[in-house]
Amino acid sequence: VWQNVLEYVRQSITEVEYHTWFEKIQPLGVVNGSLELGVPTSFFKGWIEDHYAELLTEALARLGAQAPRFELKVIPGKPVQEDIFSASTPNKPQEARARLNPKYIFENFVVGQNNNLAHAAAVAVAESPGNAYNPLFIYGGVGLGKTHLMHAVGHSVAQRFPDKKIEYVSTETFTNELINAIREDRMSEFRDRYRSVDLLLVDDIQFIAGKERTQEEFFHTFNALYEARKQIILSSDRPPKDILTLEARLRSRFEWGLITDIQPPDLETRVAILKMNSEYRNMRVPEEVLEYIARQITSNIRELEGALMRVIAYASLNGVQLSKAVAIKALSDVFAATESGLAPEEILKAVAEHYNLRPEEIRGAGRRKEVVIPRQIAMYLIREMTHASLPEIGQFFDGRDHTTVLYAIQKIQESLDTEPNLQQTLKSIRERLR
Ligand code: ADP
Ligand code: MG
Repeated sequence: VWQNVLEYVRQSITEVEYHTWFEKIQPLGVVNGSLELGVPTSFFKGWIEDHYAELLTEALARLGAQAPRFELKVIPGKPVQEDIFSASTPNKPQEARARLNPKYIFENFVVGQNNNLAHAAAVAVAESPGNAYNPLFIYGGVGLGKTHLMHAVGHSVAQRFPDKKIEYVSTETFTNELINAIREDRMSEFRDRYRSVDLLLVDDIQFIAGKERTQEEFFHTFNALYEARKQIILSSDRPPKDILTLEARLRSRFEWGLITDIQPPDLETRVAILKMNSEYRNMRVPEEVLEYIARQITSNIRELEGALMRVIAYASLNGVQLSKAVAIKALSDVFAATESGLAPEEILKAVAEHYNLRPEEIRGAGRRKEVVIPRQIAMYLIREMTHASLPEIGQFFDGRDHTTVLYAIQKIQESLDTEPNLQQTLKSIRERLR
């Protein structure tokens, strides 16, 4: 549970705060539904109570604790480490690796049809930085593993070539640092730093769009590194040609090397990712639970992992065994924060039962009339009874396009006026769901 709370907290505060206050907390266990945490001093205790109590409670509630409570206990004898404040001077070159998330390594990256080309390119670059593909440009939707792959290259290069200098930077940070450097008259320092690296990882480069000064500076950084045969890896949520207001000379440079994409993972890959994740956390999670989660969340791996964490935490906080029923409960308000409180899965099941079909038949590719109408009805009801968007519903139905969903819903709406039978059908499915 603590691990999950930490991950939630980490996303909400700065690295320095996290490092200072949270890494030193020791989880003691759950006592009467309250999470007990050990802290080194009473100063520490007071600080956390004053500054982070709300965040911690929120994290516990998010993870499904019905009565989110925690208690801090001072455990003396564990000296507070001295690096509390030194941690706030970032960006020293030897700390470059510290900017890499230790979890984002190749070993933890599940390779599927959706990402195998990007993965292969990343491996090639890690083996021979500067000589394989330069730059390597990885694009894909949110939460699909771009940052993970970039960091994996960083770790791998750091291990293979300990002398190589590695910089990982988000485009946002690059921009902010540039602005500060200009303001504080430290441009040559800024330039030295980025032009002296062997491997430069720049995340979310799409944010450079429209920022002329940053583009200008990055152009020179790029050239300096490229000419010195230093490796550059860029990530983006879209290919270079779709980044509007990107200077042509930068765009063409982004296209010099290899452009590769990451697509949303298929069901099998999603299950494999969840399995890898639970093993990483030393948790044994039943297959049916993994599959349930993988079916619900289809297009964002971060959310997929978040859902798994939530289910694990829910079971542990409420003292129940992990099962599909528990997973449905733990996730119900994530998927359907509507009055109905139903998950798409449950609605599909009710439709299937009504027609004496199996849910997979409705979800699958079949085009027989006997499954097409139930499928349209299921889409219609899911749209009506949950907050799911059209693309999400499309994903839920084995990755169909959102226009298919839209068509289905319109079709049902039109038929409702003319076919009393259909109204009756919807009514009885709704009753089944109550
Ligand atoms: P992006 O940068 O594309 O938005 P991230 O790299 O931050 O996505 O990935 C989101 C989360 O999903 C991370 O926790 C990452 O470890 C995980 N993840 C993404 N792809 C994979 C994969 N193929 N195997 C295992 N975990 C993955
Ligand atoms: Mg990212």
